[in-house]
Amino acid sequence: MSIIVYTESWEEKFRKSTFEAVSYASEVAKMLSTNVIAISFGEESSEELAKLGNYGAEKVLACNQIEKGDSEATSNFLAENSIDANIIVFATTNTSKMIASRLSAKIKAGIVSNVIELPSEVSPVTLKRKSFSSKAIEQVKVNSDKAIICLASNSYGVIENHKNCSIEKKTINSSENIRFKGQEIANGKLSLAEAEIIVSAGRGLKGPENWKMIEDLAETLGAATACSKPVSDIGWRSHDEHVGQTGKAVAPNLYFAIGISGAIQHLAGVNSSKVMVVINTDPEAPFFKSADYGIVGDAFEIVPKLIEEIKKIR
Ligand SMILES: Cc1cc2nc3c(=O)[nH]c(=O)nc-3n(C[C@H](O)[C@H](O)[C@H](O)COP(=O)(O)OP(=O)(O)OC[C@H]3O[C@@H](n4cnc5c(N)ncnc54)[C@H](O)[C@@H]3O)c2cc1C
Repeated sequence: MSIIVYTESWEEKFRKSTFEAVSYASEVAKMLSTNVIAISFGEESSEELAKLGNYGAEKVLACNQIEKGDSEATSNFLAENSIDANIIVFATTNTSKMIASRLSAKIKAGIVSNVIELPSEVSPVTLKRKSFSSKAIEQVKVNSDKAIICLASNSYGVIENHKNCSIEKKTINSSENIRFKGQEIANGKLSLAEAEIIVSAGRGLKGPENWKMIEDLAETLGAATACSKPVSDIGWRSHDEHVGQTGKAVAPNLYFAIGISGAIQHLAGVNSSKVMVVINTDPEAPFFKSADYGIVGDAFEIVPKLIEEIKKIR
């Protein structure tokens, strides 16, 4: 009755959210006196696969025959390889949402998304999740025999717990393998889901020609760039940068909101950030109520100074 973890990689390197999911599963496994089996679908090297052992996986089942984003084939494979498992853990990502929901229907498992803590009980699985766009915390009890836990990103942390990890290569029947292309697009150099720091800007930037300073600040900080919905709607930035209720939900350690008013729909996707810094000319901008640090002023004056000062420190 092992615990299964679905893993995700980008350019054959496991995502931080995968190491977090394995760390979480490893702690749940301790509660149940069992072990963790991670399942990988990429072309990761043996060294990369073995890294899952650093966070508590005792075994990796590696199948490289399924196209990334093929949620039907992936959930079929997971269903076949989790027959003996009562708990399956996913990191909450755009891809995993599609796979976890299909899997739950196939194996008749209760599914809990946006989970923020370890289960308070394991029989029945009882845990806390964020709900109502992270405005409320809900306690959920899973009544089915099997439970799928989708962990909210950055809610548990990546915790080292070294195990000897064996790797088993798995193959599937190719007729089951329905292939289609489609995967989360990484924005520029860094994917939003993975970024520790995000520099986000809104309509206060006045036009797409002014994003150079946002990109410069992001590069200086090693950050990803994001934007508000109207900015991507007008076409100043591409849609994969749009964060918020109808865009990507992000939870970086540091979120810069530059020239963004802080509408409730924007906050819904970013308010799980650990620290929020807001730069806005309007002292009454709603974003200041949620900010950890606020700078009232013109982004066109502040951002270049910020870049200069950060460069001095770095
Ligand atoms: C159903 C629904 C879903 C939505 N989903 C989303 C979503 O997912 N994400 C999202 O972002 N929005 C979403 N919206 C839109 C949302 O309500 C806001 O309209 C939007 O977030 C505002 O974008 P903004 O802050 O960039 O622009 P604005 O509201 O125009 O704000 C611009 C801000 O920039 C400031 N500013 C101006 N000049 C400067 C300067 N020189 N320096 C610094 N600051 C300056 C202004 O004071 C202002 O606060 C949704 C709306 C609806 C109805």
